[in-house]
Amino acid sequence: MTPDPLVVVVSGPGGVGKGTIVDLLVERDRRLWLSRSWTTRERRDGEAEDAYVFTDGQSFERRISEGGFLEWTEFLGNYYGTPTPDTSSLDGRDLVLEIELDGARQVKEQHPDAILIFVLPPSRDEQERRLRGRGDPNDKVFARLRKAELEEPIGISIADHVVVNDDLSTTVEAMMAIIESARSR
Ligand code: 5GP
Repeated sequence: MTPDPLVVVVSGPGGVGKGTIVDLLVERDRRLWLSRSWTTRERRDGEAEDAYVFTDGQSFERRISEGGFLEWTEFLGNYYGTPTPDTSSLDGRDLVLEIELDGARQVKEQHPDAILIFVLPPSRDEQERRLRGRGDPNDKVFARLRKAELEEPIGISIADHVVVNDDLSTTVEAMMAIIESARSR
């Protein structure tokens, strides 16, 4: 029998580089499988078509009512959710979720063994610069920064590990070490 997969939750405020980090993690370690979320947010210019399953509110709500999400939340006016993973297709790989704080909390409640890594930006200025680099309008950038300020203390308090994403390769190394140590337990 295959053992239960390790669930690695990568959370943290917008603009902290979570997406880049998890892409590098799954590239580095073939035993990791990155879950693809559903969202009702519009796809950004230049964003990959498979960055999410982009869907509408009605389809999202139907999936909620069918119990098809491991966790879901409303984030700044849009739904985001992790489809319930099909563990048989994981083929022994461990699951990586890149999600915001409310979702992370839900996963931790259901799976206390999940490893919650909360990523922080090196500074608020750098976070703002990264958010602007994605081309979001001003009001969205400010809303995300405000949300980050409110959520960071909560994230830090419930996280198993806190990592400051100053230098990307150092961050990825640190996260690989966390994952390896969780696997060996
Ligand atoms: P963005 O719109 O910038 O792609 O994502 C907004 C926030 O939603 C980010 O913090 C991202 O990590 C989070 N997010 C992405 N997918 C999910 C998901 O399936 N569930 C939850 N709870 N948050 C998600």
